[in-house]
Amino acid sequence: MKRPKIKIVTCGRFENKTKMHICRDVSRIFQVDVDVFECTIDVSKYYNPARRQYNADMLLELLISRYTPGYIKHLSVFQGDLFIPILTYIFGQAVLEGDYAIASNYRLRNELYGLKRDDQLMRERFSKVVVHELGHTFGLKHCINPVCIMRSSTYVEDLDQKEIEFCPACREKLDAMMKR
Ligand SMILES: [Zn+2]
Ligand SMILES: [Zn+2]
Repeated sequence: MKRPKIKIVTCGRFENKTKMHICRDVSRIFQVDVDVFECTIDVSKYYNPARRQYNADMLLELLISRYTPGYIKHLSVFQGDLFIPILTYIFGQAVLEGDYAIASNYRLRNELYGLKRDDQLMRERFSKVVVHELGHTFGLKHCINPVCIMRSSTYVEDLDQKEIEFCPACREKLDAMMKR
């Protein structure tokens, strides 16, 4: 049987290692194939100079307008800092039970917090954000299990405490959604 496919669009110059890390985790966890594309559109108009951040709602709208048939989910990843008007920043955002999600690695880098650069840790955090947001697109809401990937995360420390796995309850819901 052919596996479903997820489309990932990278905006910004991500290292191949980072892209591969995300693809591998998404593919393994959701049992899908992944196609990666580089973003060809200028996202500078979604930049808010006063906040020095990108408007995540508008980036999500942009992604929705670029729908490509053949993919069960569309994900865009960014390097810029993301915000939505009601929050200071976000790691990512998704349409609940929809087809679209976005994520940024901006706040996942140790350097931002005055700590030693650790690219492997950044990639692990990034994968967690991506899998969490894609989880939302499959209809999963926040989970209270402390190690479940669907637990909500405000700080990188929260991400570090979670596993990159769904708890049994979330996994069961996910499997049911994927069968639909
Ligand atoms: Zn969430
Ligand atoms: Zn859970």
